[in-house]
Amino acid sequence: MSLPLLLLRSLYLTELQQLCQNQAIPRFRAGQIYTWVQVKGVADWEEMSNVPLAIREKLSQVVEFAPVQILRSQTSRRDGTRKYLFELADQQTVETVLMLYDRAKARDRATVCVSTQVGCAMKCAFCATGLTGLVRNLAAGEIVGQVLDVQRVMRREDTDAGITNVVFMGMGEPLQNYANLSRAINLLNSTQGQNIGMRRMTVSTCGVVPRIIDLARDFPQITLAISLHAPRDAVRDRLVPINRHYPLQELMTACRKYIEITNKRITFEYALIKGVNSSAQDARDLSALLGNLQCHLNLIPVNSVQETGLTRPAAAETKEFVRILTAAGMEVTLREEKGTDIDAACGQLRKRQDGEG
Ligand code: SAH
Repeated sequence: MSLPLLLLRSLYLTELQQLCQNQAIPRFRAGQIYTWVQVKGVADWEEMSNVPLAIREKLSQVVEFAPVQILRSQTSRRDGTRKYLFELADQQTVETVLMLYDRAKARDRATVCVSTQVGCAMKCAFCATGLTGLVRNLAAGEIVGQVLDVQRVMRREDTDAGITNVVFMGMGEPLQNYANLSRAINLLNSTQGQNIGMRRMTVSTCGVVPRIIDLARDFPQITLAISLHAPRDAVRDRLVPINRHYPLQELMTACRKYIEITNKRITFEYALIKGVNSSAQDARDLSALLGNLQCHLNLIPVNSVQETGLTRPAAAETKEFVRILTAAGMEVTLREEKGTDIDAACGQLRKRQDGEG
């Protein structure tokens, strides 16, 4: 059996240089190839027109593209949000979302929401991704590949288009795939690659406590989002099962430590669910929990996932929830949901079979 090949899209420039050196290929070729892969986003050796065939052939013996392929894309009629279904080399599938923000603003923002795992082991009660469990981690090149491929499609339609922000909020729990996540962040941040600033990237976690501290140390400029969803352990244990391992007190200690190390505020996500976490008492408990923390609170009326049976509270209850927190001096936004008509909103991404959905 042949050895597994390296994934070209996962390699740092320095690694590619080393590889070229080992193969007696001039070092500058590594730079050319890195630009083709990480800037232009080519999906094939053949497209690297300034790299001699002999070199491409030699390298393709030891590194592979592991092509990801866009099987399908859907565009929201409501807000233009796009969802892409990617097929990976082993026929697994993940979904990626592209959100375009207000063209009227001075600077257009195009945010890609990428997946970090096929499926997810976390089994949060309201989320579609967790329904099938975890299949496997994505390689760094497969994470970066989602950004590169979406960007390529965008450029085909509009040559000025470019991805400005990346959020690791698609399928999977990024902090349970930490090594590949880190590599993907570094690749996207690389000045010879996409050059996406750390401040333009957000990692969202349901609360893998030890990794929150790692993230603070390794990437202090990245934005951290914590999927909180409940102010008390009894409710959070049910909604976000990892809470049984890392209860609120431990999570909050990690958050304080995170802020101490990074001096950045944290975003807390809170999906409002009727009869579960949306009462006035919940709002008061939440304000007590987060009150003295440097943070921003994102409230999201829960998006529907048929199998969960969970629904949004009435508008009046949501309004009262916001009022209580705002009155307590918290910075709160009720989030604008994107792409709900194509199941592209938070928690609606899932592993799909071809032809489904
Ligand atoms: N595993 C990571 C990132 C993926 S989920 C995490 O848990 O943060 C991205 C965000 O969508 C999380 O805040 C998650 O809790 C939220 N989410 C999941 N299902 C949802 C739903 N049905 N409605 C609203 N938000 C949901």
